[in-house]
Amino acid sequence: MSNKALSSIFGGIFGHFLLRNSAIQAISAVLMIALMLPFFDHMTNQMKVEQGSTVANTTLAATYVPLYHNDLSTVVSYGMDVLKDTPNMLYIVYSKSTGEETIIAANKWYVAKKTLPYYALNFSGDQNELLDANHGLLPKALSEKITQNQFTYSKPINIDGKPWGVLTIAFSKNAYSDLMNKFYWAVGIFIAASFVIGLTIFFASSRRIRRQITTFEKTAKRLAQGELSARAPEHSIGEIGVLGKAINQMSRTLEEKSNRLFQLAQVVEQTNDAFILFDSTFKVVFANDALKEITGFAPQEFQNTSIKEFTNKLNINLLEIQHELVVMHENMAKNFTKDMILTRQDGHTIHVEMRLESIEDIEEDTLTYLVVFSNISTRKDMEQELHQLAFYDKLTGLPNRRMFMDYLQNIIKQAERHKKCFALFFMDLDNFKNINDTMGHEAGDQLLIQISQKLKEIFRGVDLVTRLGGDEFTIIIEYIKAPGHIDIGNLAAKAVKQLSAQPVILQGRPLTISTSLGIAKYPENGLDFDTLIKNADTAMYAAKKSGKNNYAFYTEEMNVALREYIEMESDLKEAILDQEQLRLHYQPIVCLNSKEMVGVEVLARWTHPTKGVIPPCEFIAVAEKTDLILLLSELLLNQAFKQAQDWQRRGLTHYVSVNISVRQFEKDNFINVLTAFLIDYDINPAKIQLEFTEGIMLDSTVETIVKFEKIKELGFRIAIDDFGTGYSSLSYIHQLPIDVIKIDRAFVSDVLNNHKTQAILTAITNLSAALNIQTIAEGIEFKAHETLLINCNCDYGQGYLYDASMHIDALEDKYMPPIDILNVSNQ
Ligand code: C2E
Ligand code: CA
Ligand code: CA
Repeated sequence: MSNKALSSIFGGIFGHFLLRNSAIQAISAVLMIALMLPFFDHMTNQMKVEQGSTVANTTLAATYVPLYHNDLSTVVSYGMDVLKDTPNMLYIVYSKSTGEETIIAANKWYVAKKTLPYYALNFSGDQNELLDANHGLLPKALSEKITQNQFTYSKPINIDGKPWGVLTIAFSKNAYSDLMNKFYWAVGIFIAASFVIGLTIFFASSRRIRRQITTFEKTAKRLAQGELSARAPEHSIGEIGVLGKAINQMSRTLEEKSNRLFQLAQVVEQTNDAFILFDSTFKVVFANDALKEITGFAPQEFQNTSIKEFTNKLNINLLEIQHELVVMHENMAKNFTKDMILTRQDGHTIHVEMRLESIEDIEEDTLTYLVVFSNISTRKDMEQELHQLAFYDKLTGLPNRRMFMDYLQNIIKQAERHKKCFALFFMDLDNFKNINDTMGHEAGDQLLIQISQKLKEIFRGVDLVTRLGGDEFTIIIEYIKAPGHIDIGNLAAKAVKQLSAQPVILQGRPLTISTSLGIAKYPENGLDFDTLIKNADTAMYAAKKSGKNNYAFYTEEMNVALREYIEMESDLKEAILDQEQLRLHYQPIVCLNSKEMVGVEVLARWTHPTKGVIPPCEFIAVAEKTDLILLLSELLLNQAFKQAQDWQRRGLTHYVSVNISVRQFEKDNFINVLTAFLIDYDINPAKIQLEFTEGIMLDSTVETIVKFEKIKELGFRIAIDDFGTGYSSLSYIHQLPIDVIKIDRAFVSDVLNNHKTQAILTAITNLSAALNIQTIAEGIEFKAHETLLINCNCDYGQGYLYDASMHIDALEDKYMPPIDILNVSNQ
């Protein structure tokens, strides 16, 4: 509260006080006068009566004789003489003889019939009234006064038993002046008394007021010194009480506010957040201790520094803050919050949340600013971790599917706007499932980590390499359609090559890993997210289908092929479960010279419920892409062994030649499976020929050789299928325990036209003979083939010239004697 307000309150109180003091004095004067009037009245009456009695008695005594003689003239003259000095006297004489009364005044007298008891008569001193009534009757006013008993009268004087009564009111001049003197004295004393009383009241009350004001002053001083629990007395009557209440109200509010401030200050001091208060010129006016915790700088170091120095010290971008301030004011907001990184005194950085609060002082019309820094390192770490979890693959540390999706969506938008190009690589490890199955998941994980590492090395930092999941990776490559810029095909080829170039070391063993990579280009192969991913995936499948360790650009046709491929895959699964759809057909293998059937090659036949017979070249390849080949092989091996068992039991010597797929051979348990079959069917392994394609032979690692030797040890016949296609390397023939070479159909069909082929064929058969390896020519369709092959020293043949593959019943009908006859001849 300001001084002005205080003085106006005090001035007001004083003004009121003096007025009231005067009022009190006036009231007390009125009261005193009211109290003294009856006293004066009584005194004058008393005097009237006494003086009247004296006059009456003396007059009576003096006029006793004339009265007795009824000498009224003497009485009257004496009476008038006596009454000369007493102007207000009326002397009434009763006449015994006439019964009349004689009323005598100072200068007049008259006789009246007695109409009233004498004692009721009195005299007011009003001479004029009396004299006007000189007709023998009492004036009306006088008679009224008499009847109203307003007169003082003397005691009646009895003479001869008759009341020679006298009514008198008399004042001598002396008595009058005496009385007046007394009155003046009384009035004087009264004024003096009331003055003294007034002064006393004034001093008493002003002392009280002074005392109370002193209390207020003390209270104000205590308040000023910060003792906000100080209170003024507030039970005084009137303005002082009001003032006390006002002061207390004020101090209570102050105390509450200061309590709140105190609590706030405690919060500010105890909190872990740094509080920095800037004045309206953006100078630091206050900083709490937590500032040291967060920044390493003591609060004093910032005292009075400008915001520029402040931000410089903490390495905060002042421009950013200024920008935020502008935005805040524009939005009529009072605060803003911003995450930032500041540099501590020790040089380390720390994540903080900065909150700036503008505080308006309406009275002063200024703005101050409170800046609060909260340490959010933990939160940031957690956010980072969550971000890592959400957007990065835990195993490889590569960005994950989510990040890929976000990125792809963004890059599509950007490419749309800026007419950019990019390529999406979809990459899948070849035979990863195999590694997982055979070496365990641990090894699989290790492989993925190593591949990720390689991918990071192969691609530029700007290319987003992500792991989509499993063994699938994607790479997004931005490029410009300009000569000399990135050649996408080249890049893909390089990636595939580099990934397989160096073997990966898994569990201490080197392993050559190949990948298949599909490419979809924006905008050529799709404008949206889903299409691009789908097409890159399709291209990847195509690359895989075309023989793995390869890459392929997406083409329209791929989609159709892929759909058919996927459809076939699911149909094949059903067929394997059904078993009835998949049957073996038998093609005779004959001795070229004797034309006798020595064995059969079993060939898979799939009778699709709606599509009819599907050739093995279509579905075997599909099965080989997945584990279906294992199930399918097992199913067909069972049928083949069963047939061999049947023939063995029937004493037939024909062998059964079975095609073994690469995947089947590569399985760790392949030897065990074969062993189990042998035991289960209890047959002579020499009656089972296993056909392996050249591809397997080519991979002449120690393991492959060992495996072949085991197969040989078990007693099976080992044949190389499709010999002469592709690799045409003879080097493996002497390394592996081979029994039979099956010369490919392409060779045979060529032999008629090409002399060189004949020479090669002869060389092969001779070499084989020298190594004790039999030769079977496939695809003999014409007699000329047969003749030529015999000339080339080929031992056996197989082909449409003899028979195509056929149902077991047809085969037996044609090539085997009826069972009963056989049984009979055996017995
Ligand atoms: P492959 O092992 O070379 O089998 C011989 C293929 O040549 C068979 O075709 C057979 O029908 C065909 N063929 C026989 N004689 C002639 C001829 O004179 N002229 C012509 N043009 N072709 C002839 P198919 O049955 O369609 O089998 C194709 C391939 O499918 C086989 O080639 C084999 O690699 C694979 N396959 C068939 N059955 C199985 C099986 O049970 N398991 C595995 N893993 N592969 C199988
Ligand atoms: Ca074959
Ligand atoms: Ca073949």
